[in-house]
Amino acid sequence: MSSQPRLHPLFARQEIEAAVNRLAAEVRQDYHDKCPLLIGVLKGAFIFMSDLVRRLDFPLEVDFVRLSSYGRGRQSSGRIKLVGALTSEVKGRDVLVIEDIVDTGLTIAFLLDYLKKKKPNSLKLCTLTDKPSRRQVAVTIDYLGLTVPDKFVVGYGLDWDEKFRNLPEIYYLEGELGR
Ligand code: 5GP
Repeated sequence: MSSQPRLHPLFARQEIEAAVNRLAAEVRQDYHDKCPLLIGVLKGAFIFMSDLVRRLDFPLEVDFVRLSSYGRGRQSSGRIKLVGALTSEVKGRDVLVIEDIVDTGLTIAFLLDYLKKKKPNSLKLCTLTDKPSRRQVAVTIDYLGLTVPDKFVVGYGLDWDEKFRNLPEIYYLEGELGR
């Protein structure tokens, strides 16, 4: 069992709430008459997704995907696979992918490419956080909540070794662990 890292506060509850409120308003503006399909990326997006959809007062559908990166560690290997099949029909739908964090961009680029091949009517990306300093592939973020520094962040769905997802605030790991 690894020892617990030290956490340093990054975003308070109010800042996260303000970002989610703003994103909900933007999404509402663009999708209120489209009955979009929102696809959350597990596990990290589960809290953001549930807070976001409760602020959307128009018809929509919800689904989830789980992706896994081959290899171990926190560094994305770039070889991604879908764990389990997506049950919803994507063809012809207005699809909005809901992510927790875009880091190198490899994971989300894989998913967007996968979904694009299923011929949605439109395909956009909404992410709670973005770490642009580490990008390896270009990713268009249509709805962005918060930009994070080049640190490893946890809380509000984001984990370290499966821990800290339940924290209502967002923290970064101090020292070596946080890069
Ligand atoms: P990518 O590098 O492919 O953009 O991100 C891959 C995945 O690594 C993300 O979906 C997320 O699960 C995880 N990840 C990347 N950066 C962080 C971070 O700072 N904190 C946490 N908890 N996960 C991260």
